[in-house]
Amino acid sequence: MLSKVLIANRGEIALRIIAACREAGLATVAVHSEADRECLHVRLADQSVCIGPPPARASYLNIASVIAAAEITGADAVHPGYGFLAENAHFAEVVQECGMTWIGPPPDAIRRMGDKSQARRTAAANNVPILPGSANPLTSREEAVALAEEIGFPVILKASAGGGGKGMRVAADARTLHHAFDTAHMEAERAFGVGDLYLEKYLDHPRHIEVQVLGDQYGRIVALGERECSIQRRHQKLIEESPSPAVDEELRIRMCDAAVAASRAVGYTSAGTIEFLYQDGQFYFMEMNTRVQVEHPVTEAVTGVDIVLEQLRIAAGLPLSIRRRPRLRGHAIELRINAEDPVTFAPSAGTITELGFPVGPGVRIDTHLYRGYRVPPHYDSLLAKLIVWGRDRQEAVRRARRALDTFLVGGVKTSIPLHRRILEEPDFLAGRLSTHFLDHMIRPESGS
Ligand code: ADP
Repeated sequence: MLSKVLIANRGEIALRIIAACREAGLATVAVHSEADRECLHVRLADQSVCIGPPPARASYLNIASVIAAAEITGADAVHPGYGFLAENAHFAEVVQECGMTWIGPPPDAIRRMGDKSQARRTAAANNVPILPGSANPLTSREEAVALAEEIGFPVILKASAGGGGKGMRVAADARTLHHAFDTAHMEAERAFGVGDLYLEKYLDHPRHIEVQVLGDQYGRIVALGERECSIQRRHQKLIEESPSPAVDEELRIRMCDAAVAASRAVGYTSAGTIEFLYQDGQFYFMEMNTRVQVEHPVTEAVTGVDIVLEQLRIAAGLPLSIRRRPRLRGHAIELRINAEDPVTFAPSAGTITELGFPVGPGVRIDTHLYRGYRVPPHYDSLLAKLIVWGRDRQEAVRRARRALDTFLVGGVKTSIPLHRRILEEPDFLAGRLSTHFLDHMIRPESGS
C-alpha cells in the first residue's frame, strides 16, 4: 500500500493529483522551483521541497533533486503528471531502484513506446493499422527520398524520440524532403539528444482521435472510449472532446480493440493513450503517450471514471475498479485556456489581476490560478482547463459558450477570445473537423 506521494510536477496537474491523493487518504509532497514558491500546489500539499532554480532543466527535470526530495520527506511513491519526467524511463527506474512506487507504466513499456519508430513496428506486429512508411530509422537523405517516392508524396518526417511537434516536417516533393531531412535531424538532435528520423505518408485532412486505456497489474486492460483532438495549433491540442463526432459504436469498438492490443503488446499498466489519425473511414496508429494526458477530464466526464484515482489504485496493486469498457454518457468538451495572445499566439507572462470562474451545471475547471498569481515565463502556457458536459454535443457547446462568457482573467492575454470564435464556426458546430481546422479558420485563403 502507498502512504505518501511525491508529485514531480507543477500547475493544474499537480493540483489534480493532490485531489486524487486526498480522496485516497494519501499524504502528498509538492516539489517546486524557485520561481514557483507561491504556487498553489506548494500550499495545498502536506509538505513541499524546493528543488532548484527556475529553468526546468535545473529543477523539475533534475532527477537527483527530485529523488532527494522524496527521500528527505519519506515519500513512498512518485506521480510524474504529464510533461517533465513523465515519459522518462530512466527516471521511472531510479524511482523503483530507490524502493519507491512509480505511479505509471513499467519503464520497459515507456521505452518501447517512447521510440516512435519502434512503437510503429509494435503496432503493426499486433495488427494495429499504421500508415505506409519506414520500418526502421532512416539512415540517409537518399533512403528517405527513395522511400517517399515509393509510397508517394506528401510525406511527414518525424523524430523517433519525438514529442511536442518537434523534429516534424512535411515534404511535398523530393527537393523539399532533401532539405527537410537536415533541419528535422538537427532539430531532433537538439531537442531530444537523438537525431533518428522516420517517415510516413502525410494525410491531408485527418482527424486526431485517441483512445484512453487503463491497465492493472493483473493483466486487465480496459479502453475508456475515444477523444477527438483535431482542433490544434502547430500540432498542439487546443480543444478536445468525447465522444468524437466522427465515431460510431462500430468504429469505437474497432479503435478500442486496437488500442488494447497495442497496450497489451508492451505489458502496459496505469493510464495511457493510443493516438490515431483518422481519414476517409480508416484509422492509423500514430503513437502512444505513456502517461496521464492534459485532456483526461473529458473522458472522466463521459465515463464517470476518476482516471488519476485509478492510477493510484493500480500502483498500489489494486485491480481496476471497472471490468469492461464503460458506455459514454453525454458529451464533454475541454477548452485549454492558455496565457497567450489570441491573435499572434505569443506567450503572455504577467500577474493575474482579476479572476472569476464560471458556475452552473456541467462545468469543471482544473486550474492553479488565483488572483495575484504571477505567471512565470519558464514553463508551458496552460492556465486552466474548462471542461463542460452536456447531455448531447449541442448542450455541451451552449454550456461552453455560457461558461466562456463568465470566465474572467485579467492581467494576461488568454485564448478565451479564440475559443469563442471557434464555438461559432459552422464547421465546428457541424462536427466537420480536421487537424487543419484552425489554420483554415485563421487564414481561410490558405484552406484547401
Ligand atoms: P508529437 O508527439 O510531436 O506531438 P505526433 O506524432 O503525435 O507528434 O503528431 C502530432 C500531430 O501532427 C498530429 O495530431 C497531427 O495533427 C499531425 N500529424 C502527425 N502525423 C501525421 C500524418 N502522417 N499525416 C498528417 N498529419 C500528421
